[in-house]
Amino acid sequence: MYQDIQDGNAYKKITEKGSFFSIPGNVGFILCCDGVQLFKSSSQSFWPIHLAITSLPPGIRMNAENLILAGAWQGTGKPPMQNILKQVLDKIAQLEPQGVPIESPHFNGTKIVKGKLIMAVFDLPARAGATNFLQFNGNHSCLYCLDKGAHIMHRQVFLPSEQHVPRHSSTLEQHAKEAEDKHKPVMGCKGKSVLSSAIDLTEAVTVDYMHAVLEGISRKLLSFCLDSKNHSCRFYLGRDIEVMDKKIKSIEPPQEFRRSPKSYRSILSVNLIGQYRALNSGKHLNTVHGCYIIAYQF
Ligand SMILES: [Zn+2]
Repeated sequence: MYQDIQDGNAYKKITEKGSFFSIPGNVGFILCCDGVQLFKSSSQSFWPIHLAITSLPPGIRMNAENLILAGAWQGTGKPPMQNILKQVLDKIAQLEPQGVPIESPHFNGTKIVKGKLIMAVFDLPARAGATNFLQFNGNHSCLYCLDKGAHIMHRQVFLPSEQHVPRHSSTLEQHAKEAEDKHKPVMGCKGKSVLSSAIDLTEAVTVDYMHAVLEGISRKLLSFCLDSKNHSCRFYLGRDIEVMDKKIKSIEPPQEFRRSPKSYRSILSVNLIGQYRALNSGKHLNTVHGCYIIAYQF
């Protein structure tokens, strides 16, 4: 069962015996970057770049005291992602051969700790800048395949297709070179990204789980099921909300979820990301499925 980065085949491969990460004390970094608008009345935004350490257990990995602030940018408009990332990546590159002395009671004194970038996470607008790609609403803008996509209901969508071709780093490298030669995007790629010198963009820049899955698909599905506009549809669950709330409140989630489950309506109204994470666990699916069984006697 995949629960964390450490369960993945790619992670197991890079931590094989004799590799950089098999040496105790060497650490892997996850680079995370997202922007926040500083004031409602101004277009100034602030973009911190954080590094999370993969060898820490997932329950404490993203705690503020365990994150490294590797860089930050403040300004108006889009941040120059390639320039910002270059500064950070240059520093990380020094950590691989040289490392830094870290003093800790765990080491009985000082130890040289070396580190290397393993993967990066961005939301969609930041990912386009970081990977030197067209924005997510452009043709061929998917980082993971060569599909053109289609513009449907004001959105660029990539529907399942028989002609689906995954994107690999070798083709991406070729398209980046072509784009630079022609001075125009090729298959969504605008040119070489500084990030590609550190990681394989098609494998190590992951889907942004928080925005794409929790705030995206989960919220959308839940609102479809509960929106009274859909009261005549078979999937509408608004009439069973009390049963669903009773069921979800009776659940005792695993320790990693710090808060107990809230009612479905309150989750939708205030967009509680942690609650969507809890909802995505198997028990939520059982609850919704159970309600469909009750409602429609499938
Ligand atoms: Zn795709």
